[in-house]
Amino acid sequence: MLAAGSRTQEGRCALAGMGRLSSRHGRLDTVKARPADQLLLIEVAGLDATIRAADHARRNPAQTARVNELMAQRQAQSAILTTLLGDRDDARAEIARLESDVELVDARVARDQERLASTSNVKEAQGLEHELASLASRKSALEDAELELMERLETADAAVAEQEAIIAATNDEGARVSAEGKAAVAAATASWEAATRDRAAVAAQVPAELLGLYDRLAARGVGAGLLRRRTCEGCHMVLSGTDLQTLRQAADDDVVMCPECGAILVRSDETGL
Ligand SMILES: [Zn+2]
Repeated sequence: MLAAGSRTQEGRCALAGMGRLSSRHGRLDTVKARPADQLLLIEVAGLDATIRAADHARRNPAQTARVNELMAQRQAQSAILTTLLGDRDDARAEIARLESDVELVDARVARDQERLASTSNVKEAQGLEHELASLASRKSALEDAELELMERLETADAAVAEQEAIIAATNDEGARVSAEGKAAVAAATASWEAATRDRAAVAAQVPAELLGLYDRLAARGVGAGLLRRRTCEGCHMVLSGTDLQTLRQAADDDVVMCPECGAILVRSDETGL
């Protein structure tokens, strides 16, 4: 109401470019409040800022981004692990196949040797000796291949272990950052609750009309700012000489507004007008 009043044509003429500063000369209703009550608004505004910051902090803990990043990392790392486990399984399966091939060769060799020992047929003996020679060469090739596969398995084992360690480190960091996030949310919640309690206690001491005006202003921006060293601490703008001149003429219990941000401009002993 006050801000609206100062924006009327009449207000503009009377205040000569004062904008929303003091509506003492305004036609519409003017709020009056003891300087001590006005000062309480600075406390309320400070607590409101704490409440807003704590509310933001408890809803958006700084750790969330890192936790999400770690979850994405872990997903990628797990996909790599799946591939590595597949490689290792392949190597193991190939080794098992080779070993069973070796067993077949061994069985064949045993059978051939037995037959060779019991045959008196020269032609059959020659055939068996020929087969035994090729079985020996086959076994040697299988053993070479197995040796190569054992090395591949060893490399695959190491790669799996390395990837598992990477994932464990990601999990550890995730657990640590999550715990930090939970602690930050708990701290912000405690701060929010304390500030909300304090705000209610201070606001209860502020006259209803003044608090109502503050709440309306605070709903759309800064509710109240202290005037110190010619500067509105609500918006940090330095007031012009003309605005300061108008302020000097205002009574102590006039509720005046900052021409820059529209907040209730609270004067104190430190104002130094
Ligand atoms: Zn201001």
